[in-house]
Amino acid sequence: MASLNDDANNPLHRCLVVIVGAGPSGLAVAACLQRNGVPSLILERSSCLASLWRDRTYDRLKLHLPKHLCHLPFLDFPRHFPTYPTKDQFVEYVESYARHFSIGPRFGQTVVRAEFDPAVGLWRVQSQDRLYVSSFLVVASGENVEPVMPDITGFETFSGPIIHTCAYKSGLEFRNRRVLVVGCGNSGMEVSLDLCRYNAIPHMVVRNSVHILPRDILGISTFALAMALLKWLPLRLVDKLLLVLATFTLGDTEAFGLPRPKTGPIGLKNATGKTPVLDVGAFSHIKSGKIKVMKGVREITKRGAKFMDGQEKEFDSIILATGYKSNVPTWLKGSDFFTEDGKPKASFGDGWRGKNGLYVVGFTRQGILGTSSDALKIAADIAHKLRIIKSSSQN
Ligand SMILES: Cc1cc2nc3c(=O)[nH]c(=O)nc-3n(C[C@H](O)[C@H](O)[C@H](O)COP(=O)(O)OP(=O)(O)OC[C@H]3O[C@@H](n4cnc5c(N)ncnc54)[C@H](O)[C@@H]3O)c2cc1C
Repeated sequence: MASLNDDANNPLHRCLVVIVGAGPSGLAVAACLQRNGVPSLILERSSCLASLWRDRTYDRLKLHLPKHLCHLPFLDFPRHFPTYPTKDQFVEYVESYARHFSIGPRFGQTVVRAEFDPAVGLWRVQSQDRLYVSSFLVVASGENVEPVMPDITGFETFSGPIIHTCAYKSGLEFRNRRVLVVGCGNSGMEVSLDLCRYNAIPHMVVRNSVHILPRDILGISTFALAMALLKWLPLRLVDKLLLVLATFTLGDTEAFGLPRPKTGPIGLKNATGKTPVLDVGAFSHIKSGKIKVMKGVREITKRGAKFMDGQEKEFDSIILATGYKSNVPTWLKGSDFFTEDGKPKASFGDGWRGKNGLYVVGFTRQGILGTSSDALKIAADIAHKLRIIKSSSQN
């Protein structure tokens, strides 16, 4: 590798910690580092904070978990916010978080390559027009940055619009339209619900099994209830209790074309990262037939789709609720921390620390709750390493 020299075409910026991404995770790490007296620099490709929430989510989105489980370290949500803040309120909170800790990311900086240089013991982080060199690199670029496109025959033949949920805002433009929604996770369910509110006719594709839980049971967040129960009871028992409560509240989901996986909801989440759907009203529309459930798609045709059970239907639009993936493998080089599809190889809960001063935040499949615990651990670990370096240099 070349030595660390400034180059007029590729100016060099030296920093202690570079954080890639100014979403909730990047900001949380910067704040925790600051609390430990460690300066950092955030590089963000977009022009704003929390760009996922601001630009790539639908208007009706609210936090799926109650606010007391979704705040970032050292700053609660405002008291007047509802239990489940709206996406605008969440963005407002993230902005106030950055102001509170005086965090000023460098916007418009897309990290195109980051690699540890063993010759100098530093990370070289290359954006589209600048080179940064740092002792520590924090990957905070998100588990959900790139849309996953399904591999279904015939997409190119469809005559109507096809969009991914990251581009869906509201059902307004789909009024009275027949819409095929591919995918039945939280996004697929909520988009289908939103379409109903605009009198569209959603057909939701359920290819496999899915766990649907009510978001609240008797006014208590189901997720919060599960977390409380897990402190006292074994996971299997908690899963059984959740399923009894879900059946009591929602009824038998399988009877409406939504079979449950064999493993319980929390067990499945821990084993595979697959999040249960927290129902905010879509299931009652499935029961009433407003949202039609379709078995897997065999083929997309010019005017619609053919399904696995032999049915063929016409649609005006297709919405892909097929999930997201990270983009880390495209820019992080020379590290064996991630799998080819951008997930940490380490087991669940351990995916926050790599080699040579590499840290990863927000990749433990636990949403904002996981972000906070990762950020605290990362900042403490970096501060600890710096103290060791300082004391050994004084001796
Ligand atoms: C529709 C939807 C609803 C969700 N609802 C919830 C919820 O209710 N509760 C919950 O806990 N979680 C929810 N999530 C999960 C969500 O991903 C996290 O809550 C949260 O946004 C994760 O924060 P993050 O900072 O890790 O990632 P992100 O918010 O994705 O931020 C990553 C940032 O990194 C930037 N970036 C990416 N690559 C580069 C690069 N190469 N160079 C520079 N910058 C880069 C991106 O532009 C982005 O700003 C939801 C996700 C989606 C898609």
